[in-house]
Amino acid sequence: MARSILVIGAGVAGLAAAWSARRRGAQVTVISAGVGETALAGGAVDDVPWEQVERAARLLGSDLPAGDLAPAARQLAAELGLWDVPQASGVRLATVAGRIRPARGRDRALLDLGSLRRTRVLIPRAARAAWDADALAEALADDPFARARGLRFLPVDAPVLRFDDERQIADGDLAARHDDPARLSWLLDRLRQALEGAGGAGAILLGPWLGARAPRAEALAARLGVPVGEALIGAGSPAGLRFEAGRDALLAAIGAARRHGRVRAVGGEPGGPGEGVSVHVEGEDVPLAADAVILAIGGLAGGGIVYAPPERGAGPDLAARGGAPFALSIEAPVTLGDARGAFGVVSSMQGPELDVVAWPRGERPGALESVGVRCEGVRAAPGILAAGATIAGRARTVLDAVTTGLRAGAEA
Ligand SMILES: Cc1cc2nc3c(=O)[nH]c(=O)nc-3n(C[C@H](O)[C@H](O)[C@H](O)COP(=O)(O)OP(=O)(O)OC[C@H]3O[C@@H](n4cnc5c(N)ncnc54)[C@H](O)[C@@H]3O)c2cc1C
Repeated sequence: MARSILVIGAGVAGLAAAWSARRRGAQVTVISAGVGETALAGGAVDDVPWEQVERAARLLGSDLPAGDLAPAARQLAAELGLWDVPQASGVRLATVAGRIRPARGRDRALLDLGSLRRTRVLIPRAARAAWDADALAEALADDPFARARGLRFLPVDAPVLRFDDERQIADGDLAARHDDPARLSWLLDRLRQALEGAGGAGAILLGPWLGARAPRAEALAARLGVPVGEALIGAGSPAGLRFEAGRDALLAAIGAARRHGRVRAVGGEPGGPGEGVSVHVEGEDVPLAADAVILAIGGLAGGGIVYAPPERGAGPDLAARGGAPFALSIEAPVTLGDARGAFGVVSSMQGPELDVVAWPRGERPGALESVGVRCEGVRAAPGILAAGATIAGRARTVLDAVTTGLRAGAEA
């Protein structure tokens, strides 16, 4: 009989784990309780955090060669159909904060400035609170990458908003309007006029508005003859909606079962010692049983790890106990740690000095980003594996979550 694997969490790590386990013939169920980090992130697809890439490139005086993707990761990305992860490095994304930053890959709705040289990029003005084409053009033009490549940015009057409510609606709602082919053609006409009015350009940069069910930028670019794409925003991009749509389609295509529910505990051996794991879901009396469980519940930002300092709940006196201020958000027989294996500087009965260790400094990752379940590879406890941002000390990036997800799915 096929092994039964229960994947808890439907971010990118859970997706990769489910895909990998299904490829090996396992019977897979994915259970999740809603949005995690993957759905909040902006569509940059990194393997190592981009600040580290930039720092290393500065030290070496050149771009780093990109590590190739493992064949399974490339195959998963192809089936998901959302990302462009080129063989060579060189993707450069424009952020709405006015920086140009490197990335290993991107959601295909985002504009890649990496291949542009000595050209100008149009930025249509739009009366939306988070979009200031003039300020953005000025800041991007001042970025060292733009100066080195001779990129200029030109704010232009192009009516890219069609209805009055589009000044206020959320990015995701505006993006969803461009899933409609008629509306996309309307935008195409406006962008064509903008290009003609400006006497041509090398690319067009828009806000995060180009599709909620799938990236629509390439369809525009193919018909306009110049790259078009979104700027990267910090959190809450429609890239998350595009991920969720792509994920649901892929899970259905590979035959993984899907359940919605919040897991409250993992553990216990339903068939006796060494005979599988049981999973308790909130509001359900009968636990689920599986041969193995993969915890892909995210880190601190995704809800898998919670900040729970012992002084919380303390009365007027000291906390009743000392200890680390983090906990797994579900009950499970696993141990937490951070990048160094256990929690760093412990200076008081409250545990680590959070104001010292929480934030990254130099080469040292911040505890807030590195705390997670301690694993041997991806193994957390008998029958329990972990993947993605749930694992202690791993880079909090999309491609790292893919790597550990694929491995957990294979080893489960
Ligand atoms: C704002 C932001 C910006 C980012 N920017 C970048 C970037 O530019 N480049 C990059 O590479 N990475 C970026 N990241 C990091 C990257 O998105 C994450 O490292 C990666 O998505 C983690 O994926 P995951 O599957 O491990 O976790 P998540 O995506 O967090 O998934 C966790 C899943 O578990 C579910 N879950 C949690 N608890 C339970 C429970 N008790 N029961 C059932 N389900 C549960 C959640 O609902 C969710 O489905 C960013 C993250 C954030 C938040």
